[in-house]
Amino acid sequence: MSDKIRVRIAPSPSGNLHIGTARTALFNFLYAKKTGGEFVLRIEDTDLDRSSEAFKQNIFDSLKALGLNWDEGPDVGGNYGPYCQSERFDIYPKYAQMLIDKGYAYECFCTNEELEAEKEEAIKNHNAYVYSRKCLNLTQEQKDELRAKGIKPSIRFKVEHKELIFNDLVKGELKFDTSLIGDFVIMKSNGTPTYNFAVVIDDMLMNITDIIRGEDHISNTPKQILIYEALGAKVPRFGHLGMILAPDRTKLSKRHGATAVSDFVKQGYLTDALINFVALLGWSPSDGVEIKTVDEIAADFRIHEVSSSNSVFEYDKLNWMNGQYIKKMEIPKLTDMILPFLADYDTSKYSREKLEKIVEITREPLTVLSEIKHDASYFFEEDINLDEVREVVDKDSSKEVIKYTIDTLNDWNFDDEEDIHNKLGDLRAYFKENKGLKPKDTMWALRAALTGRTRGADMAQTVWILGKDRVEKRLKAAL
Ligand code: GLU
Repeated sequence: MSDKIRVRIAPSPSGNLHIGTARTALFNFLYAKKTGGEFVLRIEDTDLDRSSEAFKQNIFDSLKALGLNWDEGPDVGGNYGPYCQSERFDIYPKYAQMLIDKGYAYECFCTNEELEAEKEEAIKNHNAYVYSRKCLNLTQEQKDELRAKGIKPSIRFKVEHKELIFNDLVKGELKFDTSLIGDFVIMKSNGTPTYNFAVVIDDMLMNITDIIRGEDHISNTPKQILIYEALGAKVPRFGHLGMILAPDRTKLSKRHGATAVSDFVKQGYLTDALINFVALLGWSPSDGVEIKTVDEIAADFRIHEVSSSNSVFEYDKLNWMNGQYIKKMEIPKLTDMILPFLADYDTSKYSREKLEKIVEITREPLTVLSEIKHDASYFFEEDINLDEVREVVDKDSSKEVIKYTIDTLNDWNFDDEEDIHNKLGDLRAYFKENKGLKPKDTMWALRAALTGRTRGADMAQTVWILGKDRVEKRLKAAL
C-alpha cells in the first residue's frame, strides 16, 4: 500500500443523494484535498431490487453540482475498477472461499425458520441474539446431505472472541467486545455478498487507506476489521462522523423538509451555499468566518478536529446562508438561475436587460430562489390584485396622486431611468408643497397602484421596468 491517502464515498443508489451522504462525501473530499490524496466514488448497488439507474445518475449529478469531483469512479474509470459493486460479483466468492479454507468462515445451512426460532428463543430469555454456531462443525457428510435436500448454504464469518480496540480518527479510541457479535453472514445463499463483506473486499482491493463515514456504521466496523485481519490485509483507518439531526433532534427526514440534494436545488438553494452549510455540520473554521468556499475550507480542514457529536440541521441557518450567497452572486448568473423559477410567467415580454434589473432589485430579501415567483409576481401578472392595498389606493390623497401621475405621464421619458427618478422627485415635491402630503405617502400610493403591495423594490427602477403602457394601465385600473 502506498503512503498516499485514498478515501472513498460508497453510496447505494437506492435513493437520490441524501444531504447527509453529501456531508460524508465532502469530508472525504476535503481530507483527500488537504493531504494530496485521492477521492474515489464507488457505487454499492448489490441490492439490485432497490437500486436504480436514475438514482445512480442523481448521485453523479448531485456530487458534481456540489463540486465534489472524484478521481476514480464508474464514469471516469481508474486503476482499481470496476467501481460499481454489481460489476464485481465474480470477485467476492473467491475471497469467501479463501476464508473458508483458512478456517475463518463456514457454510451455514440454517433455514430462515430455524434462525427465526433461535431469535425468538433469545428474546424469550431476554438475551441479545447471537447465532448459535449450529453449522460450525458440520461434517462433509452432513453438508452433502443438506445440499442434496436442495438447501443452499450461506457463508458465515467465524468471529474471534476478543477485545477489539481501534483508534477512530474522529472519536478516538474505541473498544468492542466481539463475543457480542454473532458469526455473521458474508455471502448469502443466493451467492451475493453482504454489505460488510463486499465493502471490505472492495476497500482492500481499491487500496482505501481511510474510511470516513457516518457513525451509523460504527457497529459494522469491528466486523470489518475482523475480516481484514482474517484476510491478512492492512486495516485502514476509520473515522466516524456524528449524525445529522433535524431541529427537533430526531433523524432528519422528509417531514422536516428537503433531504435530497436535488430537492434542495429544486427549491432554489445554491449548491455553493449547500456545500458551505454542510461543511459546518461537524467542522468549524479556525477564524470563525463561516462563509467559505470549498477550497478555503479544505485549506483549514483537519479531520481530527471534526466534532464527534451529532449536528443539528438548522434549516433557518441554511436559509440565511443561502440568502448571503444570493446577495453576492453576479446578476447575469443569478438571472440564469432564477429564470426557471419564473417559468409560470411569460418572461419574454421583458428584454434581458430588464429581466436582469428585476433580479437585481428583488433579490435582497430572497432566502431561496423560488421565492422570486411571489416577490416579483407584479412584474409579470397583467392584472394587479389590489385587495391588500385597497385602503391605500382608496384614500382621497392617493387618488389625487394617481390621477395627477396619469396626467403627467406623457412628459416622462421611459427610456431613461434617471428621468423617471427625477420625475418621481418632482411628484413628491409637488404633493408636499401643494397638498401637504408626506413624500412617503405619495410613493405609497403609486407603489400600491402599480404593484399591489405596500413594500417592494426601488420605485424608479420598478416604473422603468414596467414601461409606460403597463404603468398607465395599472394606474387607471387602480382608480
Ligand atoms: N453503501 C453504504 C452506505 O451508503 C456505505 C457505507 C460505508 O461507507 O462503508 O451507507
